[in-house]
Amino acid sequence: MNGLDRLKFISGDITKLEVDAIVNAANNSLLGGGGVDGAIHRAAGPQLLEECKKLGGCATGDAKITKGYRLPAKFVIHTVGPIWQGGRHNEAALLASCYRRCLQLAVGHGLKTIAFPAISTGAYGFPKEEAAYIAVCETLKFLQKESSITCVYFVCFNNETKRAYEEVLSALNPAPNLICP
Ligand code: ADP
Repeated sequence: MNGLDRLKFISGDITKLEVDAIVNAANNSLLGGGGVDGAIHRAAGPQLLEECKKLGGCATGDAKITKGYRLPAKFVIHTVGPIWQGGRHNEAALLASCYRRCLQLAVGHGLKTIAFPAISTGAYGFPKEEAAYIAVCETLKFLQKESSITCVYFVCFNNETKRAYEEVLSALNPAPNLICP
């Protein structure tokens, strides 16, 4: 099994999903922001911010986990994607690290289902197709070694994101291990 059968691409709002964990594209402070971060804090309620305040921030490329509070998801995994600065500032490796660290945290907490937004592709300006490629490749590499995660959702909030994932999928199917770096 190459892991592709455990990936799901869906349109919609990540805050509505009944999964073990949703991923938040947060900033280094973990104290809330705009975009998906704002939506997650609004839906989870003020207790999420209270727990985040105790975490001492988060480095770019790393991730931290909290409870989900009023969300249908049990946990929120907060990760900090890189700000796009043209592509020569380690952005790709840092974005890959976000996906890896989130998946590691999920496995460490015995979680089986996790949903990702398109990290860094909003306010942080990462090109959508390159980000989609990194997201899918890094996740597939992880799933090939780890069988406990049963489903990884990639949530497309807009049509450009959906198109980016479709492009990547058509390039990867049916032999992802031949193409992923
Ligand atoms: P970043 O600062 O990492 O770029 P953003 O929140 O600005 O984070 O955007 C990340 C991605 O999340 C973008 O593709 C944006 O369209 C998407 N997004 C925004 N709100 C939601 C939501 N409620 N559910 C899923 N994805 C969302």
